Amino acid sequence: MADSTPNTVERLFFHMAQITQLRNRAQAVVALLGALHELLDARRASFHSLLAPSGDMLVGLVATVDSDGTRLHCDGLAWPDDMALIEGYPHLQASLRLRGSHYDADPESGCPRLTLPLTESSGEPFGFVTLVVDGPIVADDTLIGGLVAVFDNHRQLLDYAEVDTLTRLLNRKTFDESLLRVLARIGDPGDIESGAPSLPHRRRSRPETLHHWLGVVDIDHFKRINDNFGHLIGDEVLILLANIMRASFRAQDRLFRFGGEEFVVLIKPTEAENAALAFERFRQAVASFDFPQVGRVTVSTGFARIGLGDTPSMIFDNADEALYWAKGHGRDQVCSHEQLVAEGKLQLREAPASEMELF
Ligand code: GH3
Ligand code: MG
Ligand code: MG
Repeated sequence: MADSTPNTVERLFFHMAQITQLRNRAQAVVALLGALHELLDARRASFHSLLAPSGDMLVGLVATVDSDGTRLHCDGLAWPDDMALIEGYPHLQASLRLRGSHYDADPESGCPRLTLPLTESSGEPFGFVTLVVDGPIVADDTLIGGLVAVFDNHRQLLDYAEVDTLTRLLNRKTFDESLLRVLARIGDPGDIESGAPSLPHRRRSRPETLHHWLGVVDIDHFKRINDNFGHLIGDEVLILLANIMRASFRAQDRLFRFGGEEFVVLIKPTEAENAALAFERFRQAVASFDFPQVGRVTVSTGFARIGLGDTPSMIFDNADEALYWAKGHGRDQVCSHEQLVAEGKLQLREAPASEMELF
């Protein structure tokens, strides 16, 4: 910090309070960038998420703050849509290699640029803060490090509130919020998945065949597993199943433990066949997995399209009806609500009178 006049300290406390009062991760990122932008008089502060699904490292721009204002590219629960290989971002790659601050010149302005990797408590990197400033930046390392640490403590608390402690999947509360956000987004005519409302020029329409999908997954005869092997082994099955889920679905799909031995998957926009394939791939992965002591475990899945004007309860009930069908017709299978209706096996229900009806 250049000086520590009460004014600077007051501003610092103000920003710390701003960051820690937010309950949405993306908004907390924006508050961190806003703080760095203002306190360091930076030209630009930005945050990239890092995702390493299977060896490849993907990065995506989450938010930027500069003199033109704030641009947010995702809602904090989803990944940014425009993820690209880290090789296209040498400054991010360099800071990852260093596991610390990397300094270079911003190619656009020629001004000094600092890139800092952010890591989980396990040491896994999950994102980068990049700052472009007019003057030297080195003296401000303590301020930057301190603010990033405050942000990170807060982020870990937010994560803790969103995640199921047994399986580390997202929890029921987070599912309710995520589905509402998906519905709000598809109700928006200029929708792109990352739906940044402040970025109209980035918007594009989605082809009509692409939809979000909601799948409800329920373990078959789970009571028997508990009865035969005990609750602890039952819990282990839940943990292993969650791991198979993470390995089966794309990193940009959202996986939730809805309760007990029931899971929910929100699939990013794709065709019906691709959604069915994703659930089928997961079904097969479970059916072929050798669960310690228990041996074979199977799951049944019902899935439904998330359509414009649908309410959360309609969508969930559709997927649940398809699941019920799967349970009643042999289990260990994936059923599409749309297809069951088309085949006359299920009836379409009347939409509820109020669009505001929730769960
Ligand atoms: P179905 O194929 O029809 O789904 O049969 P099921 O036996 O799985 O039936 P149901 O879904 O009704 O039973 C769920 C059981 O899951 C009941 C409960 O004892 C058990 N269960 C729920 N939550 C947990 C948990 O957190 N841990 C363990 N070990 N068991 C749980
Ligand atoms: Mg159940
Ligand atoms: Mg069950």
